[in-house]
Amino acid sequence: MASAFSIIRNGRMVDVKRRLAEPADILIRGDTIAAIGAAGLAAPADAALVDATDRALMPGLVNAHVHGHGTLAKGLVGDRWPLELFLNAMPGMTGHRTLEDKYLNGLVAAVEMIRKGCTACYDLFFEFPIPSREGVTALGQAYRDVGIRAVIAPMLADKTLYQAYPGLIDAMPEALREDVRAFRLGPGEATADAVEKICDDWPFDRDWIRPAIAPTIPLHCSDEFLLRCGDLARAYDLPLQTHLAETKAQAVLGMRKYGKTLTAHLDALGLLGPHLSAAHAIWLDGDDLGRLADNGASVVHAPVSNMRFGSGLAHLRPMLERGINVGVATDAANSSDQLNMFEAARLAALVSRIQTPDFERWLGADEVLRMATTGSARAMGFGGAIGEIAPGHKADIVLLDLGHINYVPCHDLVTQIVFTENGAAVDSVMIGGRLVLDHGRLTTIDERKLRRDAGAAAERLYAANAATRAFAKELQPFVGAFCRGLACEPYHVHRLARPHEE
Ligand SMILES: [Zn+2]
Repeated sequence: MASAFSIIRNGRMVDVKRRLAEPADILIRGDTIAAIGAAGLAAPADAALVDATDRALMPGLVNAHVHGHGTLAKGLVGDRWPLELFLNAMPGMTGHRTLEDKYLNGLVAAVEMIRKGCTACYDLFFEFPIPSREGVTALGQAYRDVGIRAVIAPMLADKTLYQAYPGLIDAMPEALREDVRAFRLGPGEATADAVEKICDDWPFDRDWIRPAIAPTIPLHCSDEFLLRCGDLARAYDLPLQTHLAETKAQAVLGMRKYGKTLTAHLDALGLLGPHLSAAHAIWLDGDDLGRLADNGASVVHAPVSNMRFGSGLAHLRPMLERGINVGVATDAANSSDQLNMFEAARLAALVSRIQTPDFERWLGADEVLRMATTGSARAMGFGGAIGEIAPGHKADIVLLDLGHINYVPCHDLVTQIVFTENGAAVDSVMIGGRLVLDHGRLTTIDERKLRRDAGAAAERLYAANAATRAFAKELQPFVGAFCRGLACEPYHVHRLARPHEE
């Protein structure tokens, strides 16, 4: 029988807080770190040995916002699309998926994340017209089979983009309006009931795969539906995530519709709390930050997607100064083009430098690495369990090859991990004490078969979605012009034109 213990020897353990990497051995019992000590740490004789000579040991990165449903649509996002054109094209990118496709969604996402040093993710997973137990199970099983940890939140709304943006349908030619009106999501009640059913009989070990709930974009949800989501989150103790004030168009319409900011609206509905994480959180003002801070909510920063869509950029320093927990994320493979947490972390550090000339308020490499590990973990509801290499934490550890050119020479590991590493030096990845990537080889699934299966599925889906894609293309000029108009409005005496200022 295999030993319950493993021991990682001869590696250099990254201490993010102290910005050091010193030799250390790590003893693991089952899926949990039992002890950390100097070279030669005592271990049971039958403990499995993981030789980490010439390897840096860092906590696995935690991706606090991703969409598994986007992985088979890589490369389909338009070159110059803002978020609203992406949402307009969504049905044409994710329609017609079978359960097997939903499983493949998860396999492809998990493999990319693991290969790029990520050991856990918060997946906002979309199914049309309502979420299904089978679909969520297919995705969760994929994550389980590859061996990554995940929170899965069915991504929910009771309004389409066209219903959510008042005036958008009227801005379209008469000939298109009827078809746009006919396109509907499932009713809010049925959608919420489906989530309840999924949570009632959750099929996974919650240490590995946990449920959550994601009313996707506040404007796309009626107040009644948002309240129901809040009730479900409380009743089932679910993390709740939403895309908060991601674009200026959303912020402008939110103010017009609610007479207050989107964050104030969620606050009024009682949705802010420690279970809530606000993805993007770009078009916020100082009062909004106070609301998030007072309620113990988290923010999830996704700089790659924010720049890809030209949405704007969250200012993290004012959030951190107010004590808001911040995580880092890639967003979807078809919105950010890849699921690379090293890139997300690096860009988080870099963009902070063009937001203020006050260089002492820029984000440091150590801060960014903490956000991309413990910050994201807390946003996922996994705080204290993952994100750190420490006794009692899950053994989610990334081994970086110090012989890789990224570390030739190596002066300061924390700086080089954030500013140099691109995932290429990821040699091995342990999740829950199990090596899922071992010297560059996935141990849990056959990647060649995955390539064949994913390629065939993507081709089939591309063909099946031809008509939906063509329809989205017809709508595109009208959606684009309407949203550009909103984004160009001088917004409410410029209150939010300069985010986060008091
Ligand atoms: Zn998203």
